[in-house]
Amino acid sequence: MTLPDRIRVLERGWLSSNNIVFLDDDAGASVVDTGYVTHIDETIRLIDEAREGRPLRRIVNTHIHSDHAGGNARLKALHGCEVWIPPGEADLVDAWDEDALSYRRTSQQCPPFSYDALIHPHDTLRLGGEDWTVLPAAGHDHAMVMLWCAHLGILLSADALWQKGFGVIFPELAGIPGFAQQKATLELIGQLKPRLVIPGHGAPFSGAAVDAALMAAHSRIDWLMEEPRRNSDNALKVLLAFKLLEAQRLTVGELTELVRTSLQGNVAMQAHYPHDPEAMAGFMAEQLVRAGAATRDGDVLIATR
Ligand SMILES: [Zn+2]
Repeated sequence: MTLPDRIRVLERGWLSSNNIVFLDDDAGASVVDTGYVTHIDETIRLIDEAREGRPLRRIVNTHIHSDHAGGNARLKALHGCEVWIPPGEADLVDAWDEDALSYRRTSQQCPPFSYDALIHPHDTLRLGGEDWTVLPAAGHDHAMVMLWCAHLGILLSADALWQKGFGVIFPELAGIPGFAQQKATLELIGQLKPRLVIPGHGAPFSGAAVDAALMAAHSRIDWLMEEPRRNSDNALKVLLAFKLLEAQRLTVGELTELVRTSLQGNVAMQAHYPHDPEAMAGFMAEQLVRAGAATRDGDVLIATR
């Protein structure tokens, strides 16, 4: 299945989420998710290309993690466009509470922005000349939403379903149930039977690949539920790999600081890692090298990508 011409997926990487540009009925354009702040120049350039001279009128966020909303402030200042976000974290955005918004805990940056409208679950949005239903997608982030176009059979799944897996179940790290919510989100996707999925990260996939991704995601959530420590391990690996991608070089001392910060406020992680952050950082450094994400030069880890 090919994408309609009015939907353009700007596939990015792991530091920045994909940006999905829609050419709208009103001769303007919208973009779903804006990537990470350090990639903003590239994001602006890619969106400029995709919108073909149409004014960017609207940013829609699936959730406000730093890799999905990091370009909001600059794009809004540049285009005077509106920002539409799910209601779940609107209060935190209003107050710009960096602790509650996860940026501090994850040692990630996100320039403050203001929003203009809320997209509630079951609202209908007009994007790219089609109707899209806002669907709840708790699990990875309880405020996250997906966008579903029944007419085209296309789902924007955000971090609820990737071709290989899904995002870290962040609420569980803080002792808030999230596994069952993620399972329910996967079940909802299964009921929709999307013909094509545009994930928050990675290339769109369709047909049999959707069924395969769903099956793998179901086994993965069962595997995590069986031993919640696995979610903490994955979270730590993902957070450190993200930071390494951003910084390109990290000393073991910096890694230790990151581990210490990640543990703050995350009660489940504290229980899973009773050892000192220094030992954890040493262990994680080995893991990153073994996974091929880094090479090691004495005390310094160097990103391989
Ligand atoms: Zn996310």
